[in-house]
Amino acid sequence: MAASVLFTSLILPHLTQLTPYQAGKPLEELERELGLTDAIKLASNENPLGPSPLALAAILDTLGSLHRYPDSHAYYLKEDLARHHGLTPAQLILGNGSDEVLDLLVRALVPPGGEVLSTTHTFLMYGLLTQAVGGVFRPVPLKEMRVDLSAMAQAVTPQTRLIIVNNPNNPTGTAFKRQEWEDFLAAVPATATVVLDEAYIDFADDPQVPSCLEYLAEDRPLVGLRTFSKTYGLAGLRIGYGFGPSGLMDYLNRLRMPFNVNSLAQAGARAALHDVDFLARTRELVLEGKDLLYRELARLGLTFVPSQANFVLIRVPRSGKEVYQAMLREGVIIRAMDAYGFPDYIRVNVGLPEENRRFLEALQKVLGPDN
Ligand SMILES: *Cc1c(COP(=O)(O)O)cnc(C)c1O
Repeated sequence: MAASVLFTSLILPHLTQLTPYQAGKPLEELERELGLTDAIKLASNENPLGPSPLALAAILDTLGSLHRYPDSHAYYLKEDLARHHGLTPAQLILGNGSDEVLDLLVRALVPPGGEVLSTTHTFLMYGLLTQAVGGVFRPVPLKEMRVDLSAMAQAVTPQTRLIIVNNPNNPTGTAFKRQEWEDFLAAVPATATVVLDEAYIDFADDPQVPSCLEYLAEDRPLVGLRTFSKTYGLAGLRIGYGFGPSGLMDYLNRLRMPFNVNSLAQAGARAALHDVDFLARTRELVLEGKDLLYRELARLGLTFVPSQANFVLIRVPRSGKEVYQAMLREGVIIRAMDAYGFPDYIRVNVGLPEENRRFLEALQKVLGPDN
């Protein structure tokens, strides 16, 4: 019997249809493949400034204690986060990336056959994690590239256990506004927990974009998610967090691995949280970078979606996969969007000014003079 057949009969049936998450291509891998040394990566919405310098210093300071287990309760980081957001430590759950907090939520709240309501064209982890617990993923279509909260509220059924929305949404970059959100919250029954993934909230410059923090209540099943991977430049460190009613956070805490957030991550995140200067520089870089991209993309005659995040979704006159491959040969890693349901789009995140220019030059070359 072939090994794969053996394991197909051993593995839980609902896991046989799982497809692996397709991460952005690592820089080193492309450089190895092409024999390049100057490739650039604008594919995973990372911070082009690098890690927060304060975080780096704190991590270096912590290296000598690596023989110790981390603080399982991340006491100081939770204190800092609680103070930063006006919460209590009991309203927080930390994870090995906010991905892990999502995983905890799905495992805690979605039984086999339970429904997870989300949207089409959004972060692929939502569907994957639902499949992993044998849940049913129900994506509600976007409307003109925007999350359609009223359609989502109408799609809730008694089987709906979790509703996951991403604001601003990856990969469209669009964001819904306070009034839409408040109408949605008022319409959703308390039998479904609402998760608002705010991975990109720090980049939003529209004051109408709501923050989940303003809507927390101990008797409301609502959880916000944030990450240190984007604005704080710590994607490789793996740390994110959720906030919500302490009664729910308590259960998630029981479910998590005791040392899910390592000691370097705890120290780095604490320092990054206070790196006000780094955050300001990051926001400014992203706003200026988007301005340049918008201007030049329009000049190239390309359609794009104005973004409240640190990336831009761009329509291309060929398949996004072809453009992705051709851009790789120019040493520029971006993302094809077929897996996200946009076969003729690419997504690029804002880089350093010279990286943005290099992306634009490569794109112009790849698409040819008349596209
Ligand atoms: C990048 C991203 C995250 C963050 O994931 P981490 O596990 O914290 O690195 C979460 N949600 C969305 C939509 C993202 O794009």
